[in-house]
Amino acid sequence: MPETPRQSTLSVRGGEGRRRLAHAVATPIVQSATFAFEDSAGVRAFQLEVEKSRFEYGRYGSPTQLILEKKLAAIYNAQDALVTSSGMSAVTDTFLALLRSGDHLVLTSECYKKTRVFCEDYLAKFGVRLSFVEPVAESIIRAIGKRTRAVFVEIPTNPHLYVPDIPRIASVTRARRIPLLVDPTLAGPFSTDPFRMGADLVILSLTKYLAGHNDVIGGAVLGRKKLLDPVREYHGTAGTLLPPLAAYLVLRGIKTAALRMHRQHDTAEKVARFLEQHPKVRRVYYPGLPSHPHFGVASRLLRGCGGVVTFRLKSDLEGAERFMDRLRLFAIAPSLGGVESLAELPATMSYWDRPRKVRRSLDISDDLVRLSVGIEDAEDLLSDLKQALSAV
Ligand code: PLP
Repeated sequence: MPETPRQSTLSVRGGEGRRRLAHAVATPIVQSATFAFEDSAGVRAFQLEVEKSRFEYGRYGSPTQLILEKKLAAIYNAQDALVTSSGMSAVTDTFLALLRSGDHLVLTSECYKKTRVFCEDYLAKFGVRLSFVEPVAESIIRAIGKRTRAVFVEIPTNPHLYVPDIPRIASVTRARRIPLLVDPTLAGPFSTDPFRMGADLVILSLTKYLAGHNDVIGGAVLGRKKLLDPVREYHGTAGTLLPPLAAYLVLRGIKTAALRMHRQHDTAEKVARFLEQHPKVRRVYYPGLPSHPHFGVASRLLRGCGGVVTFRLKSDLEGAERFMDRLRLFAIAPSLGGVESLAELPATMSYWDRPRKVRRSLDISDDLVRLSVGIEDAEDLLSDLKQALSAV
């Protein structure tokens, strides 16, 4: 390994040393729920932490999971990493480990819907106070109060792809010793450096770009060991583990993530530019376009804007559904970041259960479409969009 390997090298080789289990070049899947001690002296050595490099019980960790954690820590230049059963359990493990009754948490009004649901329906029940504010640095900083114990920000946000100025927020949270939790899932790996921007913990869905094949669900929390230790402790108790086979699938996906990301950034930008000049399209949200309100911040903080492109049609709900039904390559499905291109109507899919008034307050109009661009040929994707737009 070179002295300072780049991220694409780390995504293939990181976390996997020269000495390999059974000399296997592919990462072994160690499918065991429990791990045996040789004798009672071994049990004592483990409990006294003399013997650290071994496993005890699958809920606390496994060899395949550990390799994934080391790889993620290497890619993100983090001191430590913990993998979890989903992006959502990465969020919930972190909140439940770090917050207590009476604490105040600042989040943005536009954030992943289930993150908001968890905070409003569960954290609030345990006495955590919440502020949901506009996803811009000024509003986030203004919301910080005496009892604020964490600030949680996504970069970019979902679905309008707003890009809060993380370094600005970090200058305040750091001075006040408040952990800044950053979820960069939508940016994808390699296009942001959340720790350099000032994040204390990075919370990720591995399901999206990192695993990349729409075939496995997983999550991760990364950061300084001291801050991550209570999250790991809670996680081992709650049992939100990522099973060995799922860890393997994520590991396999990560090895090609740099190649995929390149293609997805590139094609998404082409799609965004195509949509922006189309007469049936009212407005496009893509932070790589100068028309996006956060283009300036995005140019500073992102090296690529990811594969999600959100746009409004000049149409009502029926027209939007006609557009969706005419798509041939884009599958109608939630999620993002995988090799297959997907399309969803937030009004009838992720936000279908929210009253119209709530949807309006979140700018989820009936004509809003969210695309996740995969790795198919860009020209084929553009012609699919073109023919589907003719149905609007
Ligand atoms: N964070 C963001 C920004 C997401 O978009 C999602 C899911 O879409 C999650 C977290 C949750 O991840 P998972 O679906 O792996 O639980």
